[in-house]
Amino acid sequence: MTPSVASTSSATPSSTDPIGSHASGITEPHDAPGASPVLVGDHPALDLINTIAPIDGQMVDFLQSDDDVLRWLIQTGYAAPDESFPFKPDALRDAAHSLRDTLRTLIDARKAAAAPSPSLDVRALNAFLSRGHYQIQLTPKPDGLQIAHRYERRSAEQVLMPIAAAAADLIVNGNFDLVRKCEDRECTLCFYDRTKSHRRRWCSMATCGNRNKVANFRRRQSERRADHPTSPDDRQETERKT
Ligand SMILES: [Zn+2]
Repeated sequence: MTPSVASTSSATPSSTDPIGSHASGITEPHDAPGASPVLVGDHPALDLINTIAPIDGQMVDFLQSDDDVLRWLIQTGYAAPDESFPFKPDALRDAAHSLRDTLRTLIDARKAAAAPSPSLDVRALNAFLSRGHYQIQLTPKPDGLQIAHRYERRSAEQVLMPIAAAAADLIVNGNFDLVRKCEDRECTLCFYDRTKSHRRRWCSMATCGNRNKVANFRRRQSERRADHPTSPDDRQETERKT
């Protein structure tokens, strides 16, 4: 089944935070045994961009081989668990890198613009999309029917076509106020904020959220101690030491 692309609303963005500017810092991606890319983007295009991510202070490219891309496609639901593709070596990896580079540049440009301007350079994404073929079909779902796009998968680019199509939808219909980078200074992951309050700040509360919460708590504590050097806590600490 083709994964559905969540609908997005149109609005006027104002923020210009770059989404994919971390890419230039990657010189030599290294293996990260046991690690896999996190899916925090809440949009397939952003999840693809997030396959370059910081691990222990170093930028890691999680898509270093055809097998890496296949695993990611299975992880994201764009390939079946037992699926494989008979393409020439590195074709899937190269196509994924090409699409990822295209999306990073385009999403950065779209975020910097006030609206999806006609002058936005969409040629690279259009070139990628031009290799796709799909049929539209009505298919059943638990509570009725749905319109499904059935993509041909005769090339590596075609396997990635649903993600390219989702990215095209994001560029045209996405609310780029909600397309943001994690607020952690070291983190480069980006996401589409689909929370009700639209106040999502972190790629994940379990990692960046908690780390910053603890750091802020410690900073407030030390500021309080600096403001009140003879507080009971400090006196007790002094007594213990003497
Ligand atoms: Zn983060």
